[in-house]
Amino acid sequence: MTAATGMRALAKRAVERTVVGTGLTALARRAHRREVVVLGYHNIVPDGEPIVGDRSLHLPQREFAAQLDILGETHDVIALTELLARDAASTSRPAAVITFDDGYRGAATAGAAELARRGMAATMFVPPAFVGDGTFWWDACAIDGDRGAFRQLALTVCRGEDAKVRAEAKRRGITERAVPAHARCATPEELREAAGAIAIGSHSWSHPNLALLPPETLRDELTRPIDWLRTELGGFVPWLAYPYGKTSAHVQAVARESGYEGALLIEGGWTTRPPRNHHAVPRLDVPGEVSRDGFAMRIAGLVAG
Ligand SMILES: [Zn+2]
Repeated sequence: MTAATGMRALAKRAVERTVVGTGLTALARRAHRREVVVLGYHNIVPDGEPIVGDRSLHLPQREFAAQLDILGETHDVIALTELLARDAASTSRPAAVITFDDGYRGAATAGAAELARRGMAATMFVPPAFVGDGTFWWDACAIDGDRGAFRQLALTVCRGEDAKVRAEAKRRGITERAVPAHARCATPEELREAAGAIAIGSHSWSHPNLALLPPETLRDELTRPIDWLRTELGGFVPWLAYPYGKTSAHVQAVARESGYEGALLIEGGWTTRPPRNHHAVPRLDVPGEVSRDGFAMRIAGLVAG
């Protein structure tokens, strides 16, 4: 961090502190009391472990614990499946749903432990092709230059397909680095263990950009995880989180036909209960570097998704 960005971060935190102190957050929450915010997390980094790769995806455990405590004071945490219920009890508090993408080991262990401690429900979306200690290109490829430009190329030219992205990275001289155990995909045993605290859903089979796939591959990417989850985990939530949040009207139709009751984007903010389109439900991304006041503002509806 340079001195200038350090000053900017400090100034941002001071503004957040002031906003949370004024009671604006309480007012904003009241305006959202009949709505739901679906929070999107990725990895939870166990205390004492290093953060490697994109900081926005790797939230330290102590920060996650603090966020859950803030959330529990102001929101009713509900299970994802309750989102579709039409007869939701009326309450003076907004509802929140907790979700994780990618099936990171840190989320399945440290994240699950914090949730279990507070009796809070959550759902994790896993891409079975990576289950069993797999790593994701965005953690394994040490991109020093323009991350946004490489990501754009990875999601379009390479269709978000892991092997293709790694081959392209290699061609550009981007090296692969060691990924710590907590930032790898959990094993089936770890997912079964986490299932006491976290319900498991589908994140497609191998995490491609679904909107760019030919019809047969698209159908396969959506149906294979359902069979796998049924066989390997015994139970699952028939919900899908679109990899990279990428979808289309066609992808949504195939998701519905494949048996998914609902599907999640990665941004867009708050949703009604039940959501208008069950197969394009917005979420509020929680970046790993967000401050506690910044989190309180986000869940109050003061920061757009
Ligand atoms: Zn993902």
